[in-house]
Amino acid sequence: MAAQRVAEDVAKGTKQTARVRVAVRLRPYMRMQDQKGEGACVRRLDTETLEIINWRNATETLQYQFDVFHGEETTQQEVFLSSVKPILPHLLKGQNASVFAYGPTGAGKTHTMLGSQEQPGVIPRAVRGVFNLVKAKEREHEGWDYSIGMSYLEIYNEKVLDLLSPSAQDLPIREDKDRNILIPGLTHTPLSSFSNFHSHFIPASLNRTTASTKLNQRSSRSHAILLIKVVRTQRNPPHRQQTGKLYLVDLAGSEDNRRTGNKGIRLKESGAINLSLFTLSKVVDSLNAGGGGRVPYRDSKLTRLLQDSLGGSSHSVMITNIAPEYTYYFETFTALNFAAKSKQIVNKPFVRETVTVPSVQVKRSREEQEAGRSGEP
Ligand code: ADP
Ligand code: MG
Repeated sequence: MAAQRVAEDVAKGTKQTARVRVAVRLRPYMRMQDQKGEGACVRRLDTETLEIINWRNATETLQYQFDVFHGEETTQQEVFLSSVKPILPHLLKGQNASVFAYGPTGAGKTHTMLGSQEQPGVIPRAVRGVFNLVKAKEREHEGWDYSIGMSYLEIYNEKVLDLLSPSAQDLPIREDKDRNILIPGLTHTPLSSFSNFHSHFIPASLNRTTASTKLNQRSSRSHAILLIKVVRTQRNPPHRQQTGKLYLVDLAGSEDNRRTGNKGIRLKESGAINLSLFTLSKVVDSLNAGGGGRVPYRDSKLTRLLQDSLGGSSHSVMITNIAPEYTYYFETFTALNFAAKSKQIVNKPFVRETVTVPSVQVKRSREEQEAGRSGEP
């Protein structure tokens, strides 16, 4: 059976060879986060490389290389253009894609994925982008009709919960005969426009935020998963139909929960988070190592859900968010070791740059200009 599947996959050109592209984004230094005022311990070297002080030996730095490194000056628009926009056209051809933000709480995952009104993130830009692509396709009159829809869910304590019609019910994850992953019972809402998307997404996000104040920072303890589905149907017989799925995921915080002394319900959450993030790292490693070994998708709900949209013929990007303050030092290491393509120890002292202007404010004004310039992704 497995051999037959592999043969079919090869024939269809969907053999599991796809790498997950790994980008790292460093957020600006924030004085409030730096209790001792020690400055930054991470900095950009070039578009693929960063360096961080080696805690074992302060005369050394460690240099890490990724597919892309976004330094602290990088705008929301630049992150979108380099890491997300190029994968959108595949959705209109019935292929799947996923973008997920990984990293410790406070490092910028929600900023990257959702952003704010003034600095919209990947989610609003990607949805707008999909609508624009579909409009352009329809103008080409190629004989396909397109429809766009959304689902929105979270995985909390290994439970799959619908955010569009909230209830405590844990939804099942199933696989059909074509190996598509389905979630029976999950709300799917057709979308007519970007503003229509907005009107469904914002209240649903608030659902999540309300829960978070009750449950103490739930938003950092669950994975928020937005699914945008593009279905295209041939206008004439045989009316072929193709579905492309885009998952946009704001992952739970990757901080080491054993160190934060969690007890009771927090400890249970920690176990679930550690399991899913650890499995995700194994899946990414195994996809990126190539070689066609077993990819352990089934070991957590998160990876099981993403199975048809992570690796295989799909297009996946992981954006690892990191923070420059020493407070985050060990969390940053964990995140970098997850994300790195290569690592190198370099014998030279880290050049400390004195932070004279709060860099967040510099950044804000730059992004405000950007927001004023471009409404379109
Ligand atoms: P996370 O979701 O990983 O916990 P957030 O996205 O909430 O982190 O970011 C923490 C804080 O840092 C927020 O106040 C956010 O606005 C700010 N922030 C994060 N990334 C950036 C960035 N690239 N530029 C400016 N501010 C940022
Ligand atoms: Mg967040």
